[in-house]
Amino acid sequence: MKKISILGSTGSIGVNTLDVIGSHPDKFQVVGLAAGENYELLLSQIEKFKPRTASLFSKTGADKLKQRLHDKKIKITSGIDGAIEVATLSDADMVISAIVGAAGLIPTISAIKSGKTIALANKETLVMAGEIIMKEMDGRGRIIPVDSEHSAIFQALAGERRENIRRLILTASGGPFRNLPIEQFKHITPDDALKHPNWRMGPKITVDSATLMNKGLEVIEAKWLFDVPAENIEVLIHPQSIIHSLVEFIDGSVIAQLGIPDMRIPISYALNYPDRLENRLPSLDLSHIKNLSFEKPDTVKFPCLKLAFESLKKGGTMPAVLNAANEVAVNAFLNREISFNGIPETIKKTMDSHDAGNIQEISDILKADKWAREYSKKLIAMSNEQ
Ligand code: NDP
Repeated sequence: MKKISILGSTGSIGVNTLDVIGSHPDKFQVVGLAAGENYELLLSQIEKFKPRTASLFSKTGADKLKQRLHDKKIKITSGIDGAIEVATLSDADMVISAIVGAAGLIPTISAIKSGKTIALANKETLVMAGEIIMKEMDGRGRIIPVDSEHSAIFQALAGERRENIRRLILTASGGPFRNLPIEQFKHITPDDALKHPNWRMGPKITVDSATLMNKGLEVIEAKWLFDVPAENIEVLIHPQSIIHSLVEFIDGSVIAQLGIPDMRIPISYALNYPDRLENRLPSLDLSHIKNLSFEKPDTVKFPCLKLAFESLKKGGTMPAVLNAANEVAVNAFLNREISFNGIPETIKKTMDSHDAGNIQEISDILKADKWAREYSKKLIAMSNEQ
């Protein structure tokens, strides 16, 4: 029995993970669950999976949860300390890191420090703190990617030596606005951006997919996970989302991983690595799909991808600033405070006003994150006053 803690259990990845675990009760036991505010869903997850500890970031939500919980032996905690407790439970073998955004950073680092194996969905953690995390991993725990692109590369690299990699090719669906003329971008609404053509995901990553920032964050994630410089990482638009990514080796061989777009596949792989888990999902039917197509990304229409590469080039605290400004801007877009084009504009102005500093410790990252949030919020407030 592998013992699992899930950070972000009420989100899209969390729910899919519990779906996989629920189909294999002989293999996995849930020992900890952590979520943000959704106490109703967390309550039903606790009743079904019976962890020994559960945590809700919201204190009022955690109080309501305690009142409604029948089994008083289950420990209920709250706040960041609660998430850290779930991330570091002594009997957890693996921690699924699936809180959205920067909120996942400290619990994930805590899990790594306590030697857990991490199934990583929360890419923002590596974007902000890749350098520190990869150092921290030295000899303690390990990271197995959940992101479908990184899972594909991880699978393509099985048994390969890092020196043999020529380049990584990350595929991207291109999102809902791939064919929309740039002149129309000013009319894009949150509802339009939340309609992803191929994947059902949480709102933040769905908007990130529409701006292509998601792919930018994934490039940074791939750099750290696979120790490949940004110059050797390419992005390829592949609207069908069947090839999840590819690796080209020094001899010209290219290995790709294919599958239907369903997150339960990479989640299963991470949960049961290095073995595979059987599921009842439909098989990939290429004769039905018929065509797989590819094109270069358009960074004039989608400047977020370029900004992500630029942040990597500047290095230090700049990717954390990119990430924080993006979180603020996406939130403001979803609240109809800025336009879709306002997302890259806010990020660019925030990055332009930041001198990337070196990262010695986590506090350097948290400081840059805080600065970028305040700065980008001010920019948004000023643009709304005009
Ligand atoms: P969702 O928005 O669906 O879920 C986010 C989860 O994080 C929820 O459980 C939410 O709790 C929880 N949460 C938010 N803030 C806190 C907090 N402060 N403390 C504890 N928990 C918190 O997001 P997704 O599942 O779509 O994405 C999660 C992560 O996985 C992201 O980093 C994303 O980029 C990555 N990812 C997602 C994919 C997908 O298919 N969805 C694919 C690849 C990567 P609550 O709802 O209770 O407030």
